Amino acid sequence: MKRRHFFQTAAGAGAGIREPAREIPVVEEDDVIVCGGGPAGSVAAIAAARAGARTRLIESQGVIGGVWTAGLLTEFSDTRNKKGIVREVLAELEKRGGFAAGDYGTFDPEIMKHVLERMCREAGVKVRLHTLVAGAAKDSGNRLTHAVTESKSGREAWAAKCFIDASGDGDLAARAGCGFDFGHPETREFQPFSMRCVVGGIASMEGPVFTDHGQQPSTLWKEIARGGVGPSYLKSNFFVIRPGVAGLMANHAYGFVPFDAEAVTRATLEAREELHRIVAALRSLGGNWKDIWLAATGEMIGMRESRRIHGLYTVTVEDATRGARFEDAVCRATYSIDIHSGNPKRTTGIVRHGLRVKPFDIPLRSLIARDVRGLMMAGRCISGDHYAHGSYRISGNAAATGEAAGRTAALAARTRRLPHEVKFQELGLPAAGEPA
Ligand SMILES: Cc1cc2nc3c(=O)[nH]c(=O)nc-3n(C[C@H](O)[C@H](O)[C@H](O)COP(=O)(O)OP(=O)(O)OC[C@H]3O[C@@H](n4cnc5c(N)ncnc54)[C@H](O)[C@@H]3O)c2cc1C
Repeated sequence: MKRRHFFQTAAGAGAGIREPAREIPVVEEDDVIVCGGGPAGSVAAIAAARAGARTRLIESQGVIGGVWTAGLLTEFSDTRNKKGIVREVLAELEKRGGFAAGDYGTFDPEIMKHVLERMCREAGVKVRLHTLVAGAAKDSGNRLTHAVTESKSGREAWAAKCFIDASGDGDLAARAGCGFDFGHPETREFQPFSMRCVVGGIASMEGPVFTDHGQQPSTLWKEIARGGVGPSYLKSNFFVIRPGVAGLMANHAYGFVPFDAEAVTRATLEAREELHRIVAALRSLGGNWKDIWLAATGEMIGMRESRRIHGLYTVTVEDATRGARFEDAVCRATYSIDIHSGNPKRTTGIVRHGLRVKPFDIPLRSLIARDVRGLMMAGRCISGDHYAHGSYRISGNAAATGEAAGRTAALAARTRRLPHEVKFQELGLPAAGEPA
C-alpha cells in the first residue's frame, strides 16, 4: 500500500474479453516510420525525408511538436552547441518573431507549431495526426516490420524498413518487446508531470517573479500562496513570451505512471483544476495581478520521465559527470542533472543530488534498440540511466538525437542494412560539442 503513492495506476476491472483474430490492412510501405512527433520525432522525420527516405510521421495529438506545442512548454534549452536542424528551427523562430525579445530560449508555441509543420511539409514528410501507435509486428528474425495504429480510421498497419520510436514513452519499442528501465533504480521514484499554461494580462507586473533560494519557495510561489493557494511546484515561475503574456510553470503531478492512460487522465484533470485555482488566486490579490487571465492550458500534460528503452549502449551518470567522449557522438549534452522531486514529502522542488555535469557525449549506440532489430529511439526514451536522463532529457538534445536517428534510419533503409550496420562516419553529422 505504501508504494501506491508513487505508482498511481488504474486497477483492472474483471476478466478480459477475447477479441476475434482479424486481418489488419497494411495501408502504406515506407522507408522510415517515426512514432511520435515531438521535438525528437519531428526533427527525426525531417532529417530522414531530407536524406531521401519515404518518411511517415505518426502522432497521437492534433499537432506536432509534443511538449513544445501540445504541452505549451515555451523553452528551448541546451541549444548553444547544437548545429543542424536545431539551428534551423531556432533561426525560423527568430525570423518570425517567435522568441521573447532579447532571449533565445523562450518561444511562442503557436509559431513553433507552424515552423515544424512547414519544415515537415518542405522536406516531404507524410504526417498522420490523431493516430496512436498501439502495436507492433515482427518477423521471425526479430526485426520490426509494422507499426499498428488506432484512429478514426480503425486499426491500420504500416510497413517500413526502419522505425524510430520518438514517443517519449517508448511505446513502439515496448509493444515490440524491448526491455526498458523506469524511474530511480532503488527508490523507484520518478519525476512528476507538469501541465504548462499561458497567461495574459501581466503587463503591469514589476520586479522579478522568480528567484532561486535553494529549497525555499520561489517569489512567485509566495505570491500565489498569498492569494490562498500553495502551488504543488515550489519553484513556480513565469517565462515571459511577449509583453503581458507568459508561460507559467507552477504545477507538479506526483506519482502518475506515464504509460497508464487512467493515471494520465487523472493527472491532467487535477493539474488543469489547479492551474485555474492558481490564476484565480493571483487575480484575487488585485494590484499588479488584477488583469491576469488564463489564456490556454496544455492539451498534453508534460511528462519528464518515462520508459528508457534498452539500447546498444546505456548513457550513465558516470558519463555525465566525467564528461564522456565517444567516437559515435551525435551531440553533447551540457544541461545540469535536473531532477524534479517525485516525492512531495521530501520536497516539491528539485532534488539536490550533488552531481555536477561535465558536458558529455550521447553516442549513436544509445539510439539503437538492443532487443529488436530495425528500431531506433530518439528523445526522452533513448537508452540511459535515471541521472544521465535528468540532463539529456532537455529538448536541445531530444531534437539532436532525432536528427541523428533520422539520418541513420534513412541510410539504413536506402542501403538495405540495419541501423547498427551503418558506420557513424557515413552519416556526415556535424561534430558534437563546439558552440555553433
Ligand atoms: C514541464 C516540463 C518542462 C520542461 N522544461 C524544459 C525547458 O525549460 N527546456 C527544454 O529544452 N526542455 C524542457 N523540458 C523537456 C522537453 O519537454 C523534452 O526534452 C522534449 O519534449 C522531449 O522530446 P520528445 O520528442 O522526446 O518527447 P515529447 O515532447 O514528449 O514528444 C513525444 C510525442 O510523441 C507523441 N506520442 C506519444 N505516444 C505516442 C504513440 N503511442 N503514438 C503516436 N504518438 C505518440 C506525443 O503526443 C508527443 O507529440 C521540459 C519538459 C517538461 C515536461
